[in-house]
Amino acid sequence: MDNPQTPVSIVSAPKIERVRHELKRRSLTVTAVDRITPGMLRMQLSGDDLADFVSLAPDDHIKVLVPGAGEEMERRDYTPRRYDTAARTLVLDFALHEAGPATQWALDARVGDRLEIGGPRGSAVVSSDIENWLLIGDETALPAIGRRIEEARAGTHITVIAAVADAAERQAFQTDAQLDMRWAYRPLSEATDPSVLMNILQSVDLLPGTFVWIAAEASVTRTLRSHLVEERGYPLSWIKASGYWVKGKADTTEKFD
Ligand SMILES: Cc1cc2nc3c(=O)[nH]c(=O)nc-3n(C[C@H](O)[C@H](O)[C@H](O)COP(=O)(O)OP(=O)(O)OC[C@H]3O[C@@H](n4cnc5c(N)ncnc54)[C@H](O)[C@@H]3O)c2cc1C
Repeated sequence: MDNPQTPVSIVSAPKIERVRHELKRRSLTVTAVDRITPGMLRMQLSGDDLADFVSLAPDDHIKVLVPGAGEEMERRDYTPRRYDTAARTLVLDFALHEAGPATQWALDARVGDRLEIGGPRGSAVVSSDIENWLLIGDETALPAIGRRIEEARAGTHITVIAAVADAAERQAFQTDAQLDMRWAYRPLSEATDPSVLMNILQSVDLLPGTFVWIAAEASVTRTLRSHLVEERGYPLSWIKASGYWVKGKADTTEKFD
């Protein structure tokens, strides 16, 4: 275990293994639809195509293929929230918002409907010996955050800062890890305002050797990442930050390396 007194700069970079997967299209059937909160729709999909499904990292993504306005199918990124190859099931969580073909498809979906998915194309597996995590995000990040929490081993410390609309959007997670869950509230219409997340982040002590993972609307991610790097001198190699969506732009994501 890292000595908490060790300066951040001399903790070596975490090991991240990048694993490629054979890119496959899978055709699945909706077998359950459940509103786990007013704004989060959980869908279970099943099918023999899942016999060789593999997702090695909690922040993997698949593409869902859904009808759009034109002839072409639209593709959007979703996190394999949970999967079981023996049972041939996959669970996706859809954060509901006003617009967008993936959200509309999820709202209309009924048991027995079909869904094509592609991927995951690869997994970025962060070393399992990391003991401290700081996970920050909005509704779209909760599937990856929830999976990371649930898959964490005993002895891991996880702090989460999650922005949702209100207390009804809180989710409970089962875990062997020590979990410090901090919810931040703002209406979905203010999802591009980083202040509720920032206020909590500013009060969180960052031990050296803490892996920081951020996913939210891209401008929010950028602001939080800049705060950590520029104001707190936290090393980039210990941060993975992504814009999971961009306000006003369909099908847009941003990576911050
Ligand atoms: C790696 C990765 C994993 C992801 N995993 C998940 C996941 O598991 N669950 C999940 O719900 N999302 C997830 N997302 C985010 C999701 O892909 C986007 O929200 C996507 O844009 C939704 O598609 P759509 O068809 O509903 O809307 P789009 O057609 O893409 O967008 C239409 C409009 O809605 C806006 N918009 C998009 N998303 C949101 C939002 N969440 N809130 C408010 N406005 C929005 C856009 O700015 C645009 O103006 C993930 C993204 C990435 C990059």
